[in-house]
Amino acid sequence: MARIKKGDQVYVLSGKDRGKTGKVLQVWPAPQQALVERVNLLKHFDRRNPKNQAGGIVEREGPLALSKLALFCPKCRKPSRVGFSVSGEAKQRLCRRCKAVI
Ligand SMILES: [Zn+2]
Repeated sequence: MARIKKGDQVYVLSGKDRGKTGKVLQVWPAPQQALVERVNLLKHFDRRNPKNQAGGIVEREGPLALSKLALFCPKCRKPSRVGFSVSGEAKQRLCRRCKAVI
C-alpha cells in the first residue's frame, strides 16, 4: 500500500518549493515520483492548440520524488509520517502524530 496516493494533501520537504502544500495529481510508483498541484512549476513552451489559443509559455507541474513529500495530516494540520494499522483485513494509513486514520 502506498504512503501517498492521488488526491492526498502533501507537504514538500525539500527543493525550491520546500514548505508548500498541495494536492497530489498523479503518482508513479515505479520511478517513485508524484505530480503535485502548483508545486515544482516548470515553464513549458506550447504551440497554439485548442486548449491554449494563444500558445506561448505555460507553467506546468514537474514530477517530484516521493521521498521529498510528506503526507499533510488533515486532522492535526501538520506534515506527518505515515504508519499503517492492520485491523481485520483492511490495512489503513495512520498519522503517526495524532494516530488518525487517513
Ligand atoms: Zn495527524
